Amino acid sequence: AVAIRMRPLNNAEGNNERTWKVLPKYASIAQTTRDGKPLSERITGRTFFTFDKTFGEDTNNKQVYNSVAKGIVNSAVDGLNGTIFAYGQTSSGKTYTMQGAGNLEQGMGGEGGVVHMAANDIFSQIVQKQERIFLVRVSFLEIYNEEVRDLLGDPNQTLKIREDPRRGVYVESNEEVVTDFDGLLKILVRGDKSRTFASTAMNERSSRSHTILRITIESREKDADEGMDIENREPSSDGAVRISTLNLVDLAGSESVRHTGATGERQKEGGLINQSLLTLSRVIVALGAPNQTHINFRDSKLTRILQPSLSGNARMAVICCATPSELYLEETRSTLQFASRAKLVKTNAQVNEVLDERSMIRRLQKQLAEAKR
Ligand code: ADP
Ligand code: MG
Repeated sequence: AVAIRMRPLNNAEGNNERTWKVLPKYASIAQTTRDGKPLSERITGRTFFTFDKTFGEDTNNKQVYNSVAKGIVNSAVDGLNGTIFAYGQTSSGKTYTMQGAGNLEQGMGGEGGVVHMAANDIFSQIVQKQERIFLVRVSFLEIYNEEVRDLLGDPNQTLKIREDPRRGVYVESNEEVVTDFDGLLKILVRGDKSRTFASTAMNERSSRSHTILRITIESREKDADEGMDIENREPSSDGAVRISTLNLVDLAGSESVRHTGATGERQKEGGLINQSLLTLSRVIVALGAPNQTHINFRDSKLTRILQPSLSGNARMAVICCATPSELYLEETRSTLQFASRAKLVKTNAQVNEVLDERSMIRRLQKQLAEAKR
């Protein structure tokens, strides 16, 4: 699903007029004159867009989450991969949407974001599914200037992306097993701190970097004798283990790709081109094209890491954040254009079951069986 979220005007935009009007009933966004009249397309370029969902200024995080993210989170617990992106220019509300209004620690106390509500839903789903055993682990990565860093490891070290015929594309990052909401939140806070310490110009960096919070959920059916004392149990059944990953991605500010996009026009501003964001745009265009040709996932770290999720076997939501302010008319139009292209991407997620040691549950079982011998 692709959604647009317009945030309220901020102080700096306070005296400026709104140029975009959200029509939630029609899941549409229209460009208007200062007195709210619709504009003619011929004069200004595209002025009317329709999406799966549109959220106006009075929407809160809970409404956004329930409407576009919750279904993906719950199906991740059932074994389907999922990816939720926040896209938009700097200051458009990406982090507000993903991490909430207050600081991360406040969690559900402040207005939590997608990550808080996802963590909450994952563990409440798990508690309800008595017939299965779950294992949840988390990793937290940052991509800045085409370097991948582990926010749960040494932030001064860069990580390599590896490829293995069996495992596919992966990054050797730290993974932490978590067993409840608070545990997951602690990890998030730790990762966020590591990000701040590693940087001298935090603002510049945060607008140019991507963060990927990856939650891997494994589960298998409980054995009939699961409740018994461990000494009396048969070695565990060989049933398949479901594995799914849920990626929660807070993207770099999209203003750095404003002048590139579909036309491929060189960007006019100075500064580094954000290779990852640019490649993501191109990959999205290619994925949505009727005749898919070669897709260049390898052109950036972000698309390479997310390749398994972008290739179709994952449910996907893109939450595009924007300001209605006239000051950023073109940035917002460019975000709406990206969102229109993302709408064309079709996915077909399947439950992933494995029988080998790709699952941590399986590896732990084996260790346990060996220790007993
Ligand atoms: P981004 O991550 O896209 O750069 P932020 O999420 O940090 O932007 O938002 C920029 C500022 O706008 C923050 O101060 C944030 O609290 C505020 N803000 C963003 N979205 C909203 C919203 N929907 N309602 C109220 N304030 C918001
Ligand atoms: Mg941000």
